[in-house]
Amino acid sequence: MHTVIDALCTGCERCIPACPVDCISLHPVSTDVTGWQAWSARQADEAAARYAWHRERGAREERERMLRLARLSTMQE
Ligand code: SF4
Repeated sequence: MHTVIDALCTGCERCIPACPVDCISLHPVSTDVTGWQAWSARQADEAAARYAWHRERGAREERERMLRLARLSTMQE
């Protein structure tokens, strides 16, 4: 089961095509402010930190995948 954390959602819509059962829909919650105006500087900084962590996790997982492949390759020799 997947959960959208309302308070952290940026409305980027990346989850919509990725959802295999089309269970996500977005509804506007801000009034007339959109984009960067809808967030405080603190919220933007926190989102940037989460994104940096996300990127680091992706890079670490890729390094680990390459190590596993290298190990498999040496086992087959
Ligand atoms: S992918 Fe984007 S739209 Fe979907 S929940 Fe996360 S921040 Fe919100």
